[in-house]
Amino acid sequence: MQIKITLPDNSVREYPKGATAMDVAKSISEGLARNVLAAKVNGEVRDLNRPIDEDSNLTLLTWNDTDGKSTMWHSSAHLMAEALEFYYPGIKFWVGPPVQNGFYYDVDFGGQHFSADDLKKIEDKMVELARQNNAYVRKEMGKAEAIAYFTEKQDQYKLDLLSNLEDGSITFYTQGNFTDLCRGPHIPSTGYIKAIKLTNVAGAYWKNDSNNPMLTRIYGITFPKKSELDEYVAMLEEAKKRDHRKIGKEMEIFTFDDDVGPGLPLWLPNGGVLIEELERLAKKTENQAGYKRVRTPHLAKESMYLTSGHLPYYADSMYPPMEFEGERYYLKAMNCPHHHKIFKELNPSYKDLPIRLAEYGTCYRYEQSGELFGLMRVRQLQMNDAHIYCTKEQFADEFNAVNEMYLKYFKIFGIQKYVMRFSTHEPSKLGQKYVDNPVLWKETEDMVRQVLIDSKIPYVEVPDEGAFYGPKIDVQVWSAIGREFTLATNQVDFAVPARFGLTYRNAKNEMETPICIHRAPLGTHERFIGFLIEHFAGNFPLWLAPEQVAILPISDKFNGYAKKVSQLLINSDIRALVDDRDEKIGKKIRDAEVKKIPYMLVVGEKEEADNAVSVRQHGKGDQGTLRIQDFINRINAEINELLSA
Ligand SMILES: [Zn+2]
Ligand SMILES: [Zn+2]
Repeated sequence: MQIKITLPDNSVREYPKGATAMDVAKSISEGLARNVLAAKVNGEVRDLNRPIDEDSNLTLLTWNDTDGKSTMWHSSAHLMAEALEFYYPGIKFWVGPPVQNGFYYDVDFGGQHFSADDLKKIEDKMVELARQNNAYVRKEMGKAEAIAYFTEKQDQYKLDLLSNLEDGSITFYTQGNFTDLCRGPHIPSTGYIKAIKLTNVAGAYWKNDSNNPMLTRIYGITFPKKSELDEYVAMLEEAKKRDHRKIGKEMEIFTFDDDVGPGLPLWLPNGGVLIEELERLAKKTENQAGYKRVRTPHLAKESMYLTSGHLPYYADSMYPPMEFEGERYYLKAMNCPHHHKIFKELNPSYKDLPIRLAEYGTCYRYEQSGELFGLMRVRQLQMNDAHIYCTKEQFADEFNAVNEMYLKYFKIFGIQKYVMRFSTHEPSKLGQKYVDNPVLWKETEDMVRQVLIDSKIPYVEVPDEGAFYGPKIDVQVWSAIGREFTLATNQVDFAVPARFGLTYRNAKNEMETPICIHRAPLGTHERFIGFLIEHFAGNFPLWLAPEQVAILPISDKFNGYAKKVSQLLINSDIRALVDDRDEKIGKKIRDAEVKKIPYMLVVGEKEEADNAVSVRQHGKGDQGTLRIQDFINRINAEINELLSA
């Protein structure tokens, strides 16, 4: 019997029933067969060698696909486990998932010592095992049999995982001498893994609960080519030099203080400038795009978060409530509920839509102290937030305008590589993981997909990762050194407005519920500035630089003239300082270069006589002499050009 396989380009090919995705790959080209790692069959990522028994949609996944990478990395976690078991027999394994850059496995060493010094020998063993090219063999197991297997091994962790699995859905995977409870999928064999680096060892509480024992989390990353590992290692070294915590301290951008508490950054004056400039850009951009600015309190009563559905669902990531006057108040974890209340108060008709409410809103998230990381994981965040309320007919235009705004920002910040991860729902989970409204899911997902296609923005579709109340778009960007960051999330929300009773009067004088778009193109100040520090290595573009111009008198005789120049610049909204230390001019120039100040103005007798300045540009050197006003004009023109990208 033949089955029809539909490929992503909509071409249809026929194969005998029971053919595998690998058979399909081989029938297309030998090159593809060598590079393919896994396959997506009707939306589900599966092993390449599993038989396909019915007509199916098939996508062959390679290293260039997120799911291809994940399959390789998850298989690498199994390979690492095999190497670990070789040296530490009797150890127990919890879970070993793929992550954004590689994989980890949580291990209970049962009292045996393990540290970063041991990583090298595990790495070497993994290389040896990879060369054996052992197949990853899948085996379906009855639950009783699986329980017996892990009871015999006295493995309470896998028994715990098994307790949540249903009979009939349980599979084991074995490669070489290692067998794991695992739903897969895996690459065909270990030989696909050509380069291996174990990167880190850390403690991690079992199930992320500090009441539980601490396990050892070992991180690693693997590649299908040695050259890719070399590039990755070089990138990590550059990232270390550009570490936002290091540069943030050197450039006096932010700090943390024990009395304030972990995860609560204090922005120093230079950080204050970055924030002010980003907000100025956002406000101007949003103003031009028809947004209205609002302000909302930092806390609200429990009842609002019950309406929004944050409570009890997200209670773990919110701060404990404050109680007074017989009420419980929570610090806000999101701005949306407050904005919904404002929309309601506006009581609009269809003629007033779309309504776009914007606020650099401060949110509070309870992150465990072990999760905190510089500006990237904090407990308080200032978000470039806005909510767009619109009709179904307006949705495509509004969503498109949001994307345009992203593209504008990418240009301004020189972000060259980006991708939108479009997360959709899974129809079989309606009513559980997803709001039970199949029609609206389909409509909104189709609209989002069409806008993404029309705007030619690179995107990937990720099934079964939508938000509860609608599809979601995570915006991934790459810094100048090629490191990936999640910048922001857009969500389409067709459920919560109804929970808040939000309506507008339509043309027939009936009440209708609007769609809400949540968007935050510049993410949060914390994460975005952390990203920008790495991206620019602290060499901020002129408009953003905390200090734009250093005026350097060649001797103290010219300090007076230097101050006059600086005041003229400041009066023109240019951030200028005078270096009037009793130092040689060469030293002053070197220090200003180290501080990455974009312009240095050297002033002495000739400059004072001509009402002029000698201009030096950071990293570029001497730019000749200009009259003060000409220099001011030049700077303002340069800023305008950068911002009108
Ligand atoms: Zn597994
Ligand atoms: Zn929101």
